[in-house]
Amino acid sequence: MKIKHTALPWDDTSRAALRSRLGEWFRAAGRDLPWRRTLDPYAVMVSEFMLQQTQVATVIDFFNRWMLRFPDFEALAAANEAEVLHAWQGLGYYSRARNLHRAAQRVVADHRGRLPADVALIGLLPGVGRYTAGAIGSFAFDLATPAVDANIARVLARLLDLQEPVDTARGQQILWAAAEGLLPGRRGREHTSALMELGALVCLPTRPRCAECPVREFCTAKNPELLPRKKPRRKAVPMLERCAWIVEDESILLEQQTGPRWRGLWKLPSLSEEQQGELLLETTYAFTHHRVTLQVYAGAAPGQVAGEQRWFSKGELPQAAFASAHGRALRVLADQTGFAVPGFLDASL
Ligand code: SF4
Repeated sequence: MKIKHTALPWDDTSRAALRSRLGEWFRAAGRDLPWRRTLDPYAVMVSEFMLQQTQVATVIDFFNRWMLRFPDFEALAAANEAEVLHAWQGLGYYSRARNLHRAAQRVVADHRGRLPADVALIGLLPGVGRYTAGAIGSFAFDLATPAVDANIARVLARLLDLQEPVDTARGQQILWAAAEGLLPGRRGREHTSALMELGALVCLPTRPRCAECPVREFCTAKNPELLPRKKPRRKAVPMLERCAWIVEDESILLEQQTGPRWRGLWKLPSLSEEQQGELLLETTYAFTHHRVTLQVYAGAAPGQVAGEQRWFSKGELPQAAFASAHGRALRVLADQTGFAVPGFLDASL
């Protein structure tokens, strides 16, 4: 998109001053995060995939473990999907792991294991949208290229006092144009990191700390707490998921998922509406626009195990990757019923 500096409420001098304040503040207050210590495009890409729907504090341990297990594009490309899903377990949104795996395979096949320093080419990789391509371009290659994530969207919406909902095509267009208009001429790494960090540490969603904000003199927000505006949300649709807890001879029966979202992950076996039993656990989780109630009933071993089901011994359990809600339910019930597997119970509870 072409830069429209006129869309910004600051002249060239003010934009330069805003960038300079932001940079000074970031050098003093920015957090020391593992992926900020490296310019390795692979490490940057892994961190960006992990951070897409997960908090920084959660990602740090996963990132460090992942880099030990799959240190570069070649190592990840050569792994099988079960290993990749297992290493991702606990982060949720497994399509990110599958896309990262496929992206690594493409980098190895098409670019001889080296990510090109080209945002357009990076954007062609599986799971890499406009934001991720821009972020990798900025953080790994220091390109002056825009990247608008939720933190930057909030900061920009407030700086501009933007009344347009940010989750509309028009809102996005304004934000990306503003992000581009604010870029320095070169060396985008620090600038993009600083904007993002301002959103994470100062320009907070509910209580922005305007009194300590390094760019407050440039901010036009009248009621920053009310920004960014969003489209009204769809009401969550309730769904019921019934499953069975079937344990026999120190083994548990599990079922492998086949749908596109959780393909390859394990879950507790499904139970039809007619099948009854003692209710052992009820929990809820969100899934797209659904509010799912997961009920787990005590079940008996079936006469015949279905094709997608198999028995897992206690020892095998820590090697299986689970859909998040099922993994949590399994750990709770393993603990409650005495089907305890120490390594499994300790992992990512
Ligand atoms: S002054 Fe307040 S609302 Fe404006 S950018 Fe800073 S923290 Fe955000």
